[in-house]
Amino acid sequence: MALLPILEFPDPRLRTRAQPVQSFDAALERVVADMFETMYAAPGVGLAGTQVDVHRQIIVMDTSAEKDQPQVYINAQIVEREGSEVAEEGCLSVPNVFEPIKRATRVRAKAQDVKGQMFERELTGLAAVCLQHELDHLAGKLLVDYLSLLKREWIRRKLEKERRERAAGGTKDAAKEAAKDAAKAAPAPTHPAGRVI
Ligand SMILES: [Zn+2]
Repeated sequence: MALLPILEFPDPRLRTRAQPVQSFDAALERVVADMFETMYAAPGVGLAGTQVDVHRQIIVMDTSAEKDQPQVYINAQIVEREGSEVAEEGCLSVPNVFEPIKRATRVRAKAQDVKGQMFERELTGLAAVCLQHELDHLAGKLLVDYLSLLKREWIRRKLEKERRERAAGGTKDAAKEAAKDAAKAAPAPTHPAGRVI
């Protein structure tokens, strides 16, 4: 197994539309295993192929508290949705940004497992949010697309600055500076760690 690099906004590859999976073979099993390893290590509760530059309709997720309920959705589609709720979401491809996003409360999904077996499942709560978020990724859509242009631009600049600082070796001063900026920009850190998708 291997950890895969996660693409970050505004990487244009995150705008790619994923293609359906056609062969359910050992190579697919390997990608799925790597995606789980990457997701758990990040840590996040879900990961879409697009985020690791694999442009096929593959979603892995585990929204359980004990992290012992891995779920794979291949070629997933939502066939029913009900209600709506606004909740804070984070994204592994938009690090350290949490925004309230409106999603359906309950969804019914149709998908295939890693062997190609079709299944249908009803999802609520965080699992429903997570699947909707990951399906957006597979369509080339990001959490920032739900925000105003101004906010999106602010996030892009913030992430670019953080990346530059990381590339510069993250000296003590840079870290201090970043912490100061973070305190200024986000006075109320209400980050639900379990909602990074
Ligand atoms: Zn995401």
